[in-house]
Amino acid sequence: MAVKLDEKLEPIYQEVLLRNPGETEFHQAVHEVLETLGPVLVKYPEFADKKVIQRICEPERQIIFRVPWQDDKGEIHINRAFRVEFNSALGPYKGGMRFHPSVYLGIVKFLGFEQIFKNALTGMPIGGGKGGSDFDPKGRSESEIMRFCQSLMTELYRHLGEYTDVPAGDIGVSGREIGFMFGQYKRITNRYESGVLTGKGLGWGGSLVRTEATGYGTVFFVHEMLKARGDSLDGKTMVVSGSGNVAIYAMEKAAEYGAKVIACSDSGGVVIDEQGIDIELVKRLKEVERCRISAYVDARPKARYIKQGNIWSIPCHVALPCATQNELNGKDAKTLVENGCIAVAEGANMPTTPEGIQIFQAAGIAYGPGKAANAGGVGTSALEMQQNASRDSWSFEHTEQRLEQIMISIHRNCYETAEEFGAPGNYVMGANITGFIRVARAMDALGLI
Ligand code: NDP
Repeated sequence: MAVKLDEKLEPIYQEVLLRNPGETEFHQAVHEVLETLGPVLVKYPEFADKKVIQRICEPERQIIFRVPWQDDKGEIHINRAFRVEFNSALGPYKGGMRFHPSVYLGIVKFLGFEQIFKNALTGMPIGGGKGGSDFDPKGRSESEIMRFCQSLMTELYRHLGEYTDVPAGDIGVSGREIGFMFGQYKRITNRYESGVLTGKGLGWGGSLVRTEATGYGTVFFVHEMLKARGDSLDGKTMVVSGSGNVAIYAMEKAAEYGAKVIACSDSGGVVIDEQGIDIELVKRLKEVERCRISAYVDARPKARYIKQGNIWSIPCHVALPCATQNELNGKDAKTLVENGCIAVAEGANMPTTPEGIQIFQAAGIAYGPGKAANAGGVGTSALEMQQNASRDSWSFEHTEQRLEQIMISIHRNCYETAEEFGAPGNYVMGANITGFIRVARAMDALGLI
């Protein structure tokens, strides 16, 4: 980690390293925020005196539990699940659940930490939390996934509630899994508590636009970044990593803005379609048939599939990393910049390594970090909670307009804060400082918590 921390912040970081050994992703996420907070402590020394940063770095509560379940053949499996309730100064803990074999405490804590600032940026009354399990849904039948979700919720339910902790989806968790978890929560508690989970199906308390929200929001954000530079997405070529929930709807909205998406991927490889990715086809392959992206070329013979290819080596104007953490390193960033990339917005959480971020910033390209660029997902989850609380459901148009307003306001706040703190165009500083100040003020007002 090349960027040196302010002398007041370095000891705080050292303490985080000591207290959380081996949690490298969490260390990375904390370092990235601390790098930008030096000027905040100069302006607001009371936050240092009251040890607000030290308190923010320590989760309010961490839950780790066993999830036993039986596969279709009757064999017993034991997974481990987590819920990190990081900070509730602004509202109930809010953040998704991730099902992926790589999940361990360090991943959940990095995601939960990011979530605190992201949620603050939305301006909505939501605190930060995150959860997940090392369960691998790939290749599992629907009934296996249901049994796993039910077993997980049999423990998790006691920690949740619409005023306490409200999970949603993330990698490996979409409407289907939310349905299984909600069903079990309802069964155990005997309460139809719609506001306890977001990302629900439209027929049972979900919100229109929630499925699309993270991807759409990321494109609204990159549109705003380009607009601030007198440019637009129209006619730009774009590559989008991943082909899951975030990637699909980022591609859809980008095409509406006149961009041409020429590549997407999954963990197996990259698809390149110079004529423009056929988004309806990707939706069918990934959302309905749940198969690998390699199947794309069977339906589009002019497209190419590169097994284990590197999507960042494809020349483009705009790159949207929408798969996973640390998927874009310093070398990739250099290649993108050399190939003429002018904007990067993160649909995924922390997809760019610290070296990659430095290269983007040194090159002066528009770089939107995940906690700002992908906040539309959780922002729309908060809109889902509003609809649940008022037993109402809004139209697609109205909800999308609200999402767009949230993203415009996040962009404006990040932009103005970066200018105020002497770093114009630096959205990392803008996002971290805006989010931090909102949480810090609330923590201060609530006494020593
Ligand atoms: P999905 O599970 O729907 O899709 C994830 C995509 O990323 C898949 O194409 C997957 O490929 C790929 N991927 C996952 N892990 C890896 C890996 N290690 N290497 C390469 N590719 C990988 O998840 P989402 O689209 O919901 O989430 C994507 C990112 O967006 C995550 O970082 C998530 O935290 C973030 N995010 C999601 C939000 C949401 O509302 N869903 C909100 C805000 C952020 P494969 O299928 O082969 O594994």
